Amino acid sequence: MGVNSVQSGEALPLQGSGILWDPVRDATAMIPLFKVAMSETAPDLVGDVLRSGYIGQGAKVDEFEARLRERIGNPRVVTVNSATSALHLALHLLRGVAAGDGREQLRDGDEVLTTALTCTATNWPILANRLRPVWVDADPETCNLDLDDLERKLTLTTRAIVVVHWGGYPLDLDRLATVLDRAEARLGFRPVVIEDCAHAWGSTYRDAPLGNHGNICAYSFQAIKHLTCGDGGLLVLPDDDLYARAKLLRWYGIDREKPGRNDFRCEDDIPEYGFKFHMNDINAATGLANLGIIDSVVGRHQANASFYDDALAGVDGLRLLERAADRRSAFWIYTVKVDRRDDFMRAMQAAGISVSRVHERNDIHSAVSEFTAPLPQLDELVGEMVCFPVGWWVTDEQRQYIVDTIRAGW
Ligand SMILES: *Cc1c(COP(=O)(O)O)cnc(C)c1O
Repeated sequence: MGVNSVQSGEALPLQGSGILWDPVRDATAMIPLFKVAMSETAPDLVGDVLRSGYIGQGAKVDEFEARLRERIGNPRVVTVNSATSALHLALHLLRGVAAGDGREQLRDGDEVLTTALTCTATNWPILANRLRPVWVDADPETCNLDLDDLERKLTLTTRAIVVVHWGGYPLDLDRLATVLDRAEARLGFRPVVIEDCAHAWGSTYRDAPLGNHGNICAYSFQAIKHLTCGDGGLLVLPDDDLYARAKLLRWYGIDREKPGRNDFRCEDDIPEYGFKFHMNDINAATGLANLGIIDSVVGRHQANASFYDDALAGVDGLRLLERAADRRSAFWIYTVKVDRRDDFMRAMQAAGISVSRVHERNDIHSAVSEFTAPLPQLDELVGEMVCFPVGWWVTDEQRQYIVDTIRAGW
């Protein structure tokens, strides 16, 4: 397959990109949907940490958080060891927080409105916190949750909402806030919103990165996400109280910043138990190295997506998703809706192009059978949607080949 062979001297995004890659493997493999964006500087930076005698949460984590603070533009950032931990901690933090009606924001058995079209990592923390997921239907124009259905399902038992920015395309956060204003007037309290930003490093809504719109946000630095630490995650908090508590509860509830302890191995009184969710310096050094390439990584995803948007508009049997002018997706994945989707997938795979729906809908798993609800829009959407390669590794030649393959029909 000529399109997959790597020619020397060709203007590839891979060559000279500053990103580690394997020319032999890449020359023979299918065009992949995912690839690890690991900076060439990472082995040295991580090696320094490995040789330093200190690999726990230390100076590298502090430095990584300082850089993330600048990048997001919100000072209240708390690194953790995965987005799953971040989401678990976010829900846990809402216990012990007073809501407008005087009771705790979250208690056992409370309902959390959420989307089923996502990674299980979005929803299993709801179960782990002894809360009840209430599925909101999908918006077929975006793959995000449908705000009309969300508003219909908001009741006195709805204490929190989890949203996902599918593929990095931001949910309409202003419209969500308006829905919540109405709910607050009606219910006497305001459900808290947690944004799962795992797909969305580099996305913006009204020119600001996600993490600046008044909600709790969780980012993922897992292996194949835009910005990788190997594994890692980030909580971005909307207020100082949640920020202070998140820092304590990510590590057993112990205050690491408290000066002048008598015996540094023995902690002071712990008023509230916490978890072992903190990031270590090995992962932070990996993340710091990859901050050096992240803008070109995201930029190339976006450039490839624009190329597809132009080249595929009007193709028979294929529909693009919404593109609103007030937000910018980081295009972790590129999703379209197609007629005869399974035929489309077979044709692409036969041509050496990896395709996938990426996430199975969560509501069909036995683990959540008691929460089943009709989701007619999602039923239709999962029969039409598919993702094909858009990432930084997709060359000019490959993206043209992908477009030509699609235009040739399926
Ligand atoms: C990857 C992913 C997560 C989980 O991230 P981890 O850092 O692996 O825990 C959560 N939500 C979504 C939508 C994801 O794609």
